[in-house]
Amino acid sequence: MVELITRTSTDLPPDVRAAMSTALAAEPARTRGGQALTIIAQNIDQAAACEGPICQDTGMPTFEVKVPVGANQIELRQQIRAAVAEATRRGKLRPNSVDSITGENSGDNLGPGTPIIHFDQWEGSDIEVKLILKGGGCENTNAQYALPTELDHLGRADRTLEGVRKCILHAVWKAQGKGCSPGAVGVCVGGDRTSGYLHAKEQLFRTLDDANPDQRLAAIEAAVMEEANKLAVGPMGFGGQTSLIGCKIGALNRLPASFFVSVAYDCWAFRRLGVHLDATTGEITRWLYRDDKIAAIPMLPPEALAQGFPRTGREISLQAPISESDIRALKVGDVVLISGRMVTGRDAVHAHLMKHEPPVDLHGSVLYHCGPVVVKDANEAGGWRVTAAGPTTSIREEPYQADIIERYGVRAVMGKGGMGGRTLAGLAKSGAVYLNAVGGAAQFYARCIERVAGVSLLEFGTPEAMWHLEVRDFPAIVTMDSHGNSLHKDVEAESGQVLETLRG
Ligand code: SF4
Repeated sequence: MVELITRTSTDLPPDVRAAMSTALAAEPARTRGGQALTIIAQNIDQAAACEGPICQDTGMPTFEVKVPVGANQIELRQQIRAAVAEATRRGKLRPNSVDSITGENSGDNLGPGTPIIHFDQWEGSDIEVKLILKGGGCENTNAQYALPTELDHLGRADRTLEGVRKCILHAVWKAQGKGCSPGAVGVCVGGDRTSGYLHAKEQLFRTLDDANPDQRLAAIEAAVMEEANKLAVGPMGFGGQTSLIGCKIGALNRLPASFFVSVAYDCWAFRRLGVHLDATTGEITRWLYRDDKIAAIPMLPPEALAQGFPRTGREISLQAPISESDIRALKVGDVVLISGRMVTGRDAVHAHLMKHEPPVDLHGSVLYHCGPVVVKDANEAGGWRVTAAGPTTSIREEPYQADIIERYGVRAVMGKGGMGGRTLAGLAKSGAVYLNAVGGAAQFYARCIERVAGVSLLEFGTPEAMWHLEVRDFPAIVTMDSHGNSLHKDVEAESGQVLETLRG
């Protein structure tokens, strides 16, 4: 089980690699989308090479287990839970299980409801375990529709397959870059609200290149793939050729009064693997989704991997702490390379800063929306080592961000997916920018961190603490500037116009 979890967290399956290679080939290298995809490709190769998490958000571990008659499910559950705790201790999973009432992180990914384990019996003599690690950013972009309904840009969605097509397109458009596009969707037509979401997530266990045996659903899958990629949401919502790498649809019977369409959105870091186990010894007898005897094909040639961030010569270097005049000179679309000190802060830190002074001076600072994977390491100067450090979804901090920027003199907030109108106004008022880093590029960004200079608020747990990081040439794109411009708003509006043409 530890091996399954480790491999799932660190090495993308071949079908996802192939889809991402196709996306990379389709995007011109010197565009924002092309640069983002090159970082993602580097990240995939780096993660596999060092057995580090592909993304710092290792998600909600969800196990689908098939057992022969007579297998002891109580014991199996205990073993899976023990393996989850061990993989967390080894830094292959980030501690992600939080008490919903107190906010306390259990530290080992165990708690009520985590991990998710579903058992089923089958006639086989061995045990099958499939695992998916689906992170919070993409989970938050899931959508459920009750038909008939009215959809922005697409008009009425009726209780027909045409209505289903519209709902899926709407979900992809709504997600924009927040779920770390290009993503894949698992869809359920029918069921009730609970079984619909479950069945939608189960579709993500299908390979991206399989064929739906139901010709009617296969036709909708093909139509959605073609049309969603016309939206030009692109990698990370920066605009571009590829917005979706997979669409997998299943159907359940429903009550006559209900017609739900449930959409489970997964990001490009589509971590899904499985194993067959000898039911007596527990040995892995066979891997699912990958051939253990065939080495994974690297995303990039070694020279491209060694090259690091693909520069165009137009990048702007910033040294933190950053002055207001340097920030006011930036505009949407600029690519910046940050060096110096930055601090992390996500949900708990933002809530804290609304009521308390910051533990360190934030004037001129870069506040990074990131919940890194950090392990204790006696060989490191500060005693800590960051093993994964990509951005988290920023929109969650929308109610607080403008106030925090103004109160404490923050000059740049960095995360992914963009922020809303209140923050955009705050950036203009206070002289600050929003920087979009490439979501999921946890290994790539961990290599931009030279050292952990300190940590505050560790009582919030490692993902939520405020880490003080020394970084060098940390790349990100200005997607909201101090002049009222937002790339996110522009891409959403432009892709919305394309959606109008797909009303059918
Ligand atoms: S790639 Fe993005 S959406 Fe996916 S788990 Fe990582 S941060 Fe979340």
